Amino acid sequence: MSKRAIFPGSFDPIHNGHIDIARRAAEIFDELILCIYATPSKNLLFSFEERVEMAERIFADVPNISVAGYTGLTVDYARKVGAKCMVRGLRVFSDFDYEFRMALANKKLAPDIETVSLITTHQYTFVSSSTVKEVVSLGGDVSGMVPDFVREALIMKYFPDKAD
Ligand code: ADP
Repeated sequence: MSKRAIFPGSFDPIHNGHIDIARRAAEIFDELILCIYATPSKNLLFSFEERVEMAERIFADVPNISVAGYTGLTVDYARKVGAKCMVRGLRVFSDFDYEFRMALANKKLAPDIETVSLITTHQYTFVSSSTVKEVVSLGGDVSGMVPDFVREALIMKYFPDKAD
């Protein structure tokens, strides 16, 4: 039986910490769907289409990772696509509290779906979508935190006249 998992998130924007988790999860599962929540309650910088496009470009060379969008409950989406597992990433203890509560809530909603949490690779511990946005908005360099084309897209958002 082929094991399919989803990796849900906002990915606003996708960064190297996310990419590392997705590539590692794709080594464990036969198939990984990186699924982008279309309308999270957060203020978004990138549109749904932009977030999907960036992820598709990054994983174009990985045959068992596909990118999709979804709305509604993540567990409903997992069931719809026949995924038994949801992959999440853990950076620091503060993530654990949130992820633990989410995993328990999801287990209550869908006892048939498991949450699998992968621990970040140490050099990405401090990387988050909000950090990269803040750094770029203040004129800082996010090389090494996001792929080059994502860095350029960020600069374009904050400094439309500056991007090269
Ligand atoms: P959400 O909108 O659900 O908070 P994000 O798009 O911020 O999701 O992140 C998706 C998943 O990736 C979450 O499980 C988050 O903890 C994980 N993640 C984010 N940054 C990192 C990182 N640097 N290393 C490992 N996992 C990460």
